[in-house]
Amino acid sequence: MTTTGEMLIGASTVRGTDEPFHAINPATGETLEPVFHGSSSADVARACELAEAAFDTFRATSPEQRARFLEAIADRIEALGDTLIERAHAESALPIARLQGERGRTTGQLRVFATVLRAGRWQAATLDSALPERTPPRPDLRMQKIAIGPVAVFGASNFPLAFSVAGGDTASALAAGCPVVAKAHPAHPGTSELVGRAIRKAVADAGLPEGVFSLLTGAGHTVGTELVAHPAIQAVGFTGSRSGGLALMQVASNRAQPIPVYAEMSSINPVFLLPEALAARGEAIARDLADSLVLGVGQFCTNPGLLLALEGPALDTFRAAARAAVTTKPAGTMLTPGIQHAFEQGIGKLSDIDGLARTASGRAGTGPNQACAAVFETTAQRFIADPRMHAEVFGPSTVLVACRDAEEMLAVTRELEGQLTATVQADHGDYALAAQLLPLLECKVGRVLFNGYPTGVEVSYAMVHGGPFPATSDTRSTSVGTTAMDRFLRPVCYQNVPAELLPAALQDENPLYLWRLKDGKPAQA
Ligand code: NAP
Repeated sequence: MTTTGEMLIGASTVRGTDEPFHAINPATGETLEPVFHGSSSADVARACELAEAAFDTFRATSPEQRARFLEAIADRIEALGDTLIERAHAESALPIARLQGERGRTTGQLRVFATVLRAGRWQAATLDSALPERTPPRPDLRMQKIAIGPVAVFGASNFPLAFSVAGGDTASALAAGCPVVAKAHPAHPGTSELVGRAIRKAVADAGLPEGVFSLLTGAGHTVGTELVAHPAIQAVGFTGSRSGGLALMQVASNRAQPIPVYAEMSSINPVFLLPEALAARGEAIARDLADSLVLGVGQFCTNPGLLLALEGPALDTFRAAARAAVTTKPAGTMLTPGIQHAFEQGIGKLSDIDGLARTASGRAGTGPNQACAAVFETTAQRFIADPRMHAEVFGPSTVLVACRDAEEMLAVTRELEGQLTATVQADHGDYALAAQLLPLLECKVGRVLFNGYPTGVEVSYAMVHGGPFPATSDTRSTSVGTTAMDRFLRPVCYQNVPAELLPAALQDENPLYLWRLKDGKPAQA
């Protein structure tokens, strides 16, 4: 399969007529063929109308049919072989091994949702028996979750496979029974087209309506804005910048019918280095943190951008080890010239802040679009006083905050914005302080992890990749893990609906053999 530069609108392959653009190889600065074009307003409308037309048929498919469809997408992506990996490498400069791993995560994610569909718990089928003798009488009440409607998905630049066209947003929306209109990220349009074609083939093979999936292209905000504004779209999945997420939330709330936007935006992922752990293994933690900081040139939403520790000899040892470890780290090529520019600007802004000292730098690069690691240091008092230090600098940058005592560490924690993760490095003697931190962190983050590093997000049943604003636009949701599907489902209650008309999940005979909540108790019979 080759990349042609066309967009995929249902079963039609369309050459755009709007603004032309090319992908750029960030490692060489070279322009990559073919040329892509922005989707016109008519293209956006056509994709959304097809999605709307496909909705009723698609949501009526059985969970088993959708499970097989997701598995077929995974098979089709794997069948793209090296063509996909080479194109993604050229468009992102991410290493081949990383992209191969990311492909495994992408296909694994699709297959996990197939398992979830077959297990049936996602429907949350619930039955409350009628109580005609009660005063007042209770009617027969039954509830299940159904698909919300067509979903707009924005591929993220930093995971061209796992958070992009067939990433977690698309997988969870399709699993829920929602058609998807995806907007390719302009940094990897060729990768997006290849994956889009794989999905489209799976749609055709499954005999599903063509509007179940479309892929739009565009570099500039018009396509994304029109997509979110289109009345057929009922929810949005987005990963990217805070400004982009906020802009799309605004578009969604200005619609005649406002819709939910699930935007994952910015997070600095605090790491708490508690005193006993720091004294026992500070040098090892420093080395591991330096590795985590530069992983993927820091272009992870879970990058450790804030370190907190108590002043003392253990922190001095850690500081020296961290500086030494970071100094050895080579520069790496960032995903796009724009992201590299934003990183340099962010570093510049931090460098201009009084009381925030740059104390270590990675090895400078020589190639285009390269960035090297940066460590800044400050005190808790200054950090609390200056919100500029709290902003995400997307890339390998971190701020180490020295706290005079535990109270000051807790005070910094209270001042933090919402985060995707918080990491606690703690040994047994630290548990008293950790116990004070934990309730604060629960209210600030989506995932608290102990004695690890925040980069690396498992796709599983208990995973939460979310958190209060600005980590996400909706603190009740996760964009990774099986409950990501809940974003694209909504509950419907059926009151006194005749047995013959009830959906299968709610029928007395339980033909789908689901685990259901019957009068408040789990039951499968
Ligand atoms: P981005 O600029 O937010 O773009 C993400 C997607 O949204 C693209 O398809 C973009 O396409 C679209 N978009 C952006 N602003 C929009 C707007 N106002 N209206 C409509 N559509 C809009 O993100 P990016 O290109 O991936 O990276 C830029 C910066 O985002 C980074 O420097 C970093 O700060 C941040 N970022 C954060 C994370 C994270 O996980 N926290 C991940 C990636 C990036 P168009 O440009 O074609 O409109």
